[in-house]
Amino acid sequence: MSETKRLVLLGSTGSIGTQALDVAEKLGYPVLALTAHRQVDVIEAQIRKFRPRYAAMSDKNAAADLKARVADLPVTVLSGAEGLCELAALPEADVVLNAIVGVAGLRPTMAALTAGHDVALANKETLVAGGALVTETAKAHGVRLLPVDSEHSAIFQCLQGAPVERALKRVILTASGGPFFGKTREQLADVTAADALRHPNWDMGAKITIDSATMMNKGLELIEARWLFDMPPEKIDIVVHRESIIHSLIEYDDNAVLAQLGLPDMRIPIQYALTYPRRVASPAETLSLAEIGTLTFFEPDNVTFPAMDLCRRALTVGGTAPAAVNAANEAAVALFLKGEIGFLDITAKAARMLAYTWPALNSLDDVLAADREARELVQKG
Ligand code: NDP
Ligand code: MG
Repeated sequence: MSETKRLVLLGSTGSIGTQALDVAEKLGYPVLALTAHRQVDVIEAQIRKFRPRYAAMSDKNAAADLKARVADLPVTVLSGAEGLCELAALPEADVVLNAIVGVAGLRPTMAALTAGHDVALANKETLVAGGALVTETAKAHGVRLLPVDSEHSAIFQCLQGAPVERALKRVILTASGGPFFGKTREQLADVTAADALRHPNWDMGAKITIDSATMMNKGLELIEARWLFDMPPEKIDIVVHRESIIHSLIEYDDNAVLAQLGLPDMRIPIQYALTYPRRVASPAETLSLAEIGTLTFFEPDNVTFPAMDLCRRALTVGGTAPAAVNAANEAAVALFLKGEIGFLDITAKAARMLAYTWPALNSLDDVLAADREARELVQKG
């Protein structure tokens, strides 16, 4: 019989959140709490199905609406960022899955770690903005960050059983290349949000889909890998792999390379983060390599997609510079989705952040201050 874990799911209404509920249902894990931002209809249906004891909406009007709608159920509805943090720290939780999009996930991650909970982390912006603060908090409280992002889950899986002196030479992140693989900058100048939202291999939330089109997603993942695996950026490589079958690789000093493969289905890494260290049957389909036939690999195009190098530079600058680049990217993606700026402007606006000096990162307030300032700079144009 499999053990169960009581789950707090932050960002339950999103792409990862709904897949996580699918996984939790099949595992028979009780859902203690669900949170969302504004999608009251979706979370109400989830509450009626999963019967959590708590729910929270970060938007206060949405919280009031939800409270009225579920008044017939024994569920306590909290509101605002504070409410989310309170649920992230629920003492009766066994694991907190953070599937919030953007830096809004940082405070709940910190609240969960500080309360002594393992965090299954999809919210990569937590590590991009919070960096060492987050990993040191996890260490100080003796808890784990369990990667949900498919590349980092792949590396984490490859590392299982590695000796303490692990002789790791490099990690290799695979990238699908997104919808604009093979294009030139000139060809990308006029692409629309609708063009950029068509991802070849993954069906994801809007923000990460745009990040995949600019390849900022891979840059953010480079920073995420730096903190999750304590790897210096020069030991993290990126290779474009169009089929998204190899989810990432590690290389040892003897040049042995280990990879993790599977069909592109986020329920595999979500489930592994929840059941870790155990493995159980999954709803994902079996991989048939013969059916796929060919796996292809390319060098990333850093001219058309400068976001990867930008993230490397932000890591080298250090302090709150990655938080500023992340915030500028979030703000710029929102403007692009509204049709207010062009596709190439997204990375350009994020890159502008490195023209400024950013303070050291000693506290959560430092991160949030840099985040606010970067957003203001983007708004000013
Ligand atoms: P979605 O946009 O689909 O979902 C985001 C979730 O966060 C929703 O539940 C949303 O609530 C909630 N949310 C939005 N804004 C806020 C806020 N300000 N405060 C609190 N909650 C908020 O995103 P994804 O599921 O695609 O991505 C989630 C995270 O996982 C991202 O960090 C992404 O990079 C990462 N990830 C996603 C993958 C994927 O396949 N989708 C793969 C790997 C990583 P509401 O619906 O009410 O707005
Ligand atoms: Mg990924």
